[in-house]
Amino acid sequence: MKQSQLLAVTLRESPGDVEAASHRLLLRAGYIRQLAAGIYTYLPLGRIVLRRIEQIICEEMDRTGAQEVLLPAMQPAELWQESGRYEVYGEELIRLQDRHQRDFVLGPTHEEVITDLIRSEVGSYRQLPVTLYQIQTKYRDERRPRSGLLRGREFLMKDAYSFAADEETMQQAYMRMYEAYHHIFERCGLDFRAVEADAGTIGGEGSTHEFTAITEAGEDTIVVCTHCEYAANLEKAESASEAFVQSSGSNGTIAFTGEEIMIPHTTDIDTSTLDADSIASRSPEHFHTPGLRSIAQLTESLSITPDRIIKTVIFLADQEPVAVLIRGDEEINEIKVKNYLQADELIIADMETVQQVTGAPAGFVGPYGLRHARLTWLADDSILSLQNAISGGNQEDYHYRYVDVQRDLLHQLQHIGDFRNVREGDRCPRCREGSIHFQRGIEVGHVFQLGDKYSAAMNANYIDSSGREQPIRMGCYGIGVSRLVAAIVEQHHDEQGICWPASIAPYLVHLIPISVRDDQQMRIAMELYDRLYQARCEVLLDDRDERTGVKFKDSDLIGIPLRIVIGKGAAAGEVEYVERSSGIREQMTVEGVIRRIGQQR
Ligand code: ATP
Ligand code: MG
Repeated sequence: MKQSQLLAVTLRESPGDVEAASHRLLLRAGYIRQLAAGIYTYLPLGRIVLRRIEQIICEEMDRTGAQEVLLPAMQPAELWQESGRYEVYGEELIRLQDRHQRDFVLGPTHEEVITDLIRSEVGSYRQLPVTLYQIQTKYRDERRPRSGLLRGREFLMKDAYSFAADEETMQQAYMRMYEAYHHIFERCGLDFRAVEADAGTIGGEGSTHEFTAITEAGEDTIVVCTHCEYAANLEKAESASEAFVQSSGSNGTIAFTGEEIMIPHTTDIDTSTLDADSIASRSPEHFHTPGLRSIAQLTESLSITPDRIIKTVIFLADQEPVAVLIRGDEEINEIKVKNYLQADELIIADMETVQQVTGAPAGFVGPYGLRHARLTWLADDSILSLQNAISGGNQEDYHYRYVDVQRDLLHQLQHIGDFRNVREGDRCPRCREGSIHFQRGIEVGHVFQLGDKYSAAMNANYIDSSGREQPIRMGCYGIGVSRLVAAIVEQHHDEQGICWPASIAPYLVHLIPISVRDDQQMRIAMELYDRLYQARCEVLLDDRDERTGVKFKDSDLIGIPLRIVIGKGAAAGEVEYVERSSGIREQMTVEGVIRRIGQQR
């Protein structure tokens, strides 16, 4: 390709309010342009990079035996009503009507459409297993589309779906995809980890992994062990302590009895420093804590550490109130709470609800004395050994002290378990030798065992060998193709611009004659251009009549892996060979450079 003909306008200045390096560089180097928030045009260079990634993905998908399809982006709302997601998908789902006022959506993902296809095409166990994939534009009206291609509202995804007769075959399909994803991301030159992810309320143990590109620019936190292979996303990461389980009642909840909330007798005691050991045998005492609503206020005013406080947080799980207790120095992991309760939705209760459910204002709610409330009580096991603890007093401006969890609270808790976020430095839950540390990353792929979630809801069944009808077992597997472009740039760039890995670079070689008016330079440039072209090597020739500085700056920005500069040495048949990412440069003959490029491929 001759650069004089390429539509690739580079920008000297960084566009305003662009944070992510990938966003800035892809705009500046002329790969993408924004049409609207989260919606981008791919210019010729951007399109080539997408194609290279698509090519790698297709090769690896085909190798697993998956077959390529192309499903419609515009999908009838009825399918989404059938699966139940028309309601629960929320505002990310783009809804529209046709001229007959029939409801449609623009597909954010394709489980519904593909399940519909399979239920009509597959009837017998003889047709299973089968895996289908596509690379296609997806639509999600993200609340905060940002960082360019990292979070778009219109973006390119590879999605695959496996269909199997039983659990075992479903897992085999999953493992094949899991391995294929490793190959794909390795070939793209990505530094990534496959991390255990949260399967929500439908998946079993180990049934879902996210593939995370490691970069400080990522919005996800992953948890890795310093000693073993353990890696998980923060939501999923287990805490190392033994879970202590205690259950009361058959379904683990206490029904609302309608009785008054009882608040034990109040004694006003001064708020002077609490002495730890001598009071172990004392029963909980109400004491005056005017205005001390938060952990920080309590620790400061009472001169205590937060690990002496029992924090009580009220949630609404599918509209039912739930209280979660945790030690004051720990954080509640809402996903763990939500999964334990098998809830579709978990939100923190607003101030009014807290008052209504507990009879106390937010900031002063505590477990002691609240046992008649219409609440499910869950506790993180971090509170288990607390003996001389402080908890909310269930009355404005009051707390309890001398609370002993085993003695005073155990009987009212439905479940004690792991409801907290892990922290850096925690012991690894898997090997118990290493310690946990955090890394930032970008989720570029996701593999998921769905089981019969969609097939049961949408009646996608097959007839087994004994003539019985069974639900088809599914898996789904996504890769954010356009997000991957940005993730690669996050990992492969410097101050001057992008440094593409050779496998996905738009061109392998950038030929730069210093002066297009110099016949000798142009003769060598054209010779190299033709010979490399013959050898099926992708070459971009900068044949623009521009200043050298401009050409080099553009070349650095665009990020082609190898640069051949044809300058003064041309008279002696010599050119300069430069590697974009390492900065290595060498004078070589034309023959030498052709040989070297051959070795790079
Ligand atoms: P996220 O948590 O980042 O919103 P997700 O869990 O919604 O991702 P999936 O539904 O698993 O994502 O989609 C499959 C893949 O599509 C993701 O792994 C990611 O790489 C990509 N992806 C998801 N949302 C976007 C988006 N808004 N823009 C670009 N890529 C996306
Ligand atoms: Mg999302």
